[in-house]
Amino acid sequence: MHLAEELPVWFAAQARPLPWRADADPYHVWISEIMLQQTRVEAVVGYYHRFLDALPTLHALAAVEEEQLLKLWEGLGYYNRARNLQKAAQQIEAQHGGVFPRTYDEIRALPGIGPYTAGAIGSICFDLPTPAVDGNVLRVVTRFEADESNIDRESTKKQIAARLKPLYRPGLCGVMTQSLMELGACVCVPNGAPHCERCPLAATCRSADGGWMRLPVRDKKKARRQIEKTVLVLQCGERIAIRKRKGTGLLANLWEFPNYDVPAAEAPAQAQQAAEALCGTPVTLLGTQRYTHIFTHVEWHMTAYRFACGALPPDCTAATAAELEHVYALPSAFRPFFE
Ligand code: SF4
Repeated sequence: MHLAEELPVWFAAQARPLPWRADADPYHVWISEIMLQQTRVEAVVGYYHRFLDALPTLHALAAVEEEQLLKLWEGLGYYNRARNLQKAAQQIEAQHGGVFPRTYDEIRALPGIGPYTAGAIGSICFDLPTPAVDGNVLRVVTRFEADESNIDRESTKKQIAARLKPLYRPGLCGVMTQSLMELGACVCVPNGAPHCERCPLAATCRSADGGWMRLPVRDKKKARRQIEKTVLVLQCGERIAIRKRKGTGLLANLWEFPNYDVPAAEAPAQAQQAAEALCGTPVTLLGTQRYTHIFTHVEWHMTAYRFACGALPPDCTAATAAELEHVYALPSAFRPFFE
């Protein structure tokens, strides 16, 4: 590969000034890398500042109440990432005296940290020759080399990491990781045509002639499961009924409005009955709202019914609008019905 010369020069000139690039503090890099899984850079910046304002140190993360942690994560989704951050912070306190470990194996052993994140932290923070191979990097490398291996296979990821490793030179390991990521995010982009005309690798890339259209090779995506849901927004004066989801599965332990799965055609008739059964009093329909929320493997097609009630269900928590804003973690799937 001829990446090692061109990329650092290009990165020095073109890198976006992202807040987690201001220093190579492992706590900062770690939080940003976990947030960036499944979420776009532009969206992460605000969450990143909010999180670090509230939890500026690893010790603060280890000690924070789970409810506050989940509230800080609200909107980012995949809440187990936040729980694993805390578990890892507690493990660092217990096993490493509160100091972020410096070897790949020790970093990799922390909860929620896979080979990609361990490679990123190791190279960016500790100048280790540990390539971080994510979707961006796989796309850049397979296009650059016209490699038709399936990037959804673990063996492909391992082979590409092994091929990149010799390019990680002392003093430039972090730059190598970040420049590959940056090129994949900004130039050799995932959706639509890559910007080969401004790519530092164009002269030697084996796909710049249009071959990129076939690459990377991936498994066919499975169709998402479709679920119709009825959501009950039960309002009594200033308070709204919420309840905690069960401790396992999708959105575990987060808050929600009462809801149930139901075929769309049956929902209007059932919603009023269900609301009255929950509240134990007659209810008045105030309005309805549709919203579809897309998770990785499932789509929720939700119809919300807003009812004025004489009393709220006894097994629910009565929250004010201010509490829904500042205290309870209400996932993005339900937030449109509050807003
Ligand atoms: S030249 Fe084009 S296809 Fe090749 S790495 Fe650069 S952007 Fe991607």
